[in-house]
Amino acid sequence: MARANPVKSFWLNEFPVAEVKKFLQIDRDPDREFSYRTDEWFHRFKLHGELNRMPLKNPVPIRLDVGAIYDNVLDWKTPIRKELIFDVDLDAYNFLRMCDCVLTNICCERCWPIAVCAMRVLDYSLREFFGYEDIHFFFSGRRGFHCWVRDDDAMVLSTQERSVIWEYLNWNEKRDNGRGTLVPVEKRVYNKFMYPTFMKYLDHNPIWEKRNFQKDFELRDVVVPADVEDFQKKFYFLDQVGDHRLPALVARCFSLRMDKPVTTDLKHLIRCPWSRHEITGNQVLPIYLDQAENFLKTLN
Ligand SMILES: [Zn+2]
Repeated sequence: MARANPVKSFWLNEFPVAEVKKFLQIDRDPDREFSYRTDEWFHRFKLHGELNRMPLKNPVPIRLDVGAIYDNVLDWKTPIRKELIFDVDLDAYNFLRMCDCVLTNICCERCWPIAVCAMRVLDYSLREFFGYEDIHFFFSGRRGFHCWVRDDDAMVLSTQERSVIWEYLNWNEKRDNGRGTLVPVEKRVYNKFMYPTFMKYLDHNPIWEKRNFQKDFELRDVVVPADVEDFQKKFYFLDQVGDHRLPALVARCFSLRMDKPVTTDLKHLIRCPWSRHEITGNQVLPIYLDQAENFLKTLN
């Protein structure tokens, strides 16, 4: 007996077409680009009618992406509206990850707190510094998340404006090679999110012992009393003696590291919310910040 095709079954039974159209506000913005891939082909510049036909196609599509809203879908030349989108992948934090999943396509309970901290920092920054409110997070399906900002004034930002916002938030590069004192934005999120995450992260990740960590963070000359053996206590020691390196170190560990073209390029595609990741089989599900810590447990 032929085995059921899990991808076809997903499009038929699990992909919530109505919910996707509602989230993307297709009623208001019908001229939105969708793109799908099969094992052989990459089809761009399709309209939302394709969503209902996904399970019927042969071969069945393995991936679905979303693009911008265009002024003319006959030539698909000029994108006029698009959510402000951010993409964080835990690969950018490999210097901090100590779990085996670094070598795989996924993330795990040990490294997920890095993503949760980034989500909270990003959400707070977008609200406090830019006044955005219509903010949504989705699991990327593999080892990170996407953030969608749907406020009206965010939808019409130019490439240049998106670039300014990206650079403002990607503040790690503003410090001298990531070192030095905290920049003003960091001071606002340091005590709230970064420092508590760092101390908790140490519970399961002895980064003091990680190869090159002391060298990369210039900690080799730190003189810790001989009785302070535990790696977590070493960081507490730095904190207690007011060592100026600790805040910069923590900020460098948990600064936002985001893929730039996803935010700035209006024609860049992003994985469709509620679609299925073609490699992991995971669904691109919403992540609610108040339950973000436990998100991985909700995956099948
Ligand atoms: Zn991990």
